[in-house]
Amino acid sequence: MTVAPASPEAIARAAEILRRGGLVAFPTETVYGLGADATLGDSVAKIYAAKGRPSRNPLIVHVGEREWVAGLAIPDGRFDKLARTFWPGPLTLVLNRRPDCPVSPLVTAGGATIAVRMPDHPVARDLLKAVRRPLAAPSANLSGRVSPTRATDIDDQLASQIGMIIDGGPCRVGLESTVLDLTSHPPTLLRPGAIGIDAIEAAIGPVETGHESPDVLRSPGQLASHYAPLLPLRLNATDRRPGEALLGFGPVNGELNLSKEGELAVAASNLFAMLRALDQPAVYRTIAIAPIPNRDIGIAINDRLRRAAAPRPITG
Ligand code: AMP
Ligand code: MG
Repeated sequence: MTVAPASPEAIARAAEILRRGGLVAFPTETVYGLGADATLGDSVAKIYAAKGRPSRNPLIVHVGEREWVAGLAIPDGRFDKLARTFWPGPLTLVLNRRPDCPVSPLVTAGGATIAVRMPDHPVARDLLKAVRRPLAAPSANLSGRVSPTRATDIDDQLASQIGMIIDGGPCRVGLESTVLDLTSHPPTLLRPGAIGIDAIEAAIGPVETGHESPDVLRSPGQLASHYAPLLPLRLNATDRRPGEALLGFGPVNGELNLSKEGELAVAASNLFAMLRALDQPAVYRTIAIAPIPNRDIGIAINDRLRRAAAPRPITG
């Protein structure tokens, strides 16, 4: 495996690896993705194996142009409106698969729907245009763990199974995309992200949010325990208890501060890297986290923190 700084040559080499069925990790504006040609079942199987991801957890398909979606899914007026407003950008849309959709059924976990997104990052877009194939690309982390927002955050165990990592620097947004299911009426928010519900509703009208039923797993982004560091978390902390590392925000100061100025977008882009930095079981027993206001991208930050704090099996 090689780590290559982003360049036209590196992107050409990565495109070749993908065309031959290999895996490439690449930067997007949200987090680093672990990509495979979505039309090659064997390649997609390597993603699930490398991440230890349950095969019932479908993958997002990344496209280089809005027009690619017509060959994969059955778009409607709401899709057109949202894609024209928010793409390229951190909004994933779930649509019905076309009967002749060339994407491997493994990508969509055997289901009738497909999640699509056009990333807003020059490296991701150049790579997609060079491969000229839709890329299945979940976050480049072991299943259930914290998503990487820098090339160096990609776990060694995962990296050893990848043909190449393209280093495009830190991710601007830092949280995974908003996921919106357009197969229901009204549409359903499956995962909050940088594109907020208000902006979506301004474009297409009312959206259903937050029916979290443990029985119906509509999107594993809804899994109770996910995005988790090794150490347990204590949320809404305003002080530091013995054995704790405190991750501050605004006036609540700690070992690190997500944003001293209290800027939520800055906090989002720092969140995963700072959780990693404090995730040291040899030094701390718990990571305590300052309260994050539940507005704008703070809603997505709190969603990830709740899941990271949820009870979970210890997998080390
Ligand atoms: P990740 O790529 O690891 O950020 O996770 C992708 C998210 O998109 C997960 O929460 C998936 O469950 C969700 N997703 C992908 N495809 C679909 C689909 N067809 N229907 C519903 N959710 C999906
Ligand atoms: Mg993920």
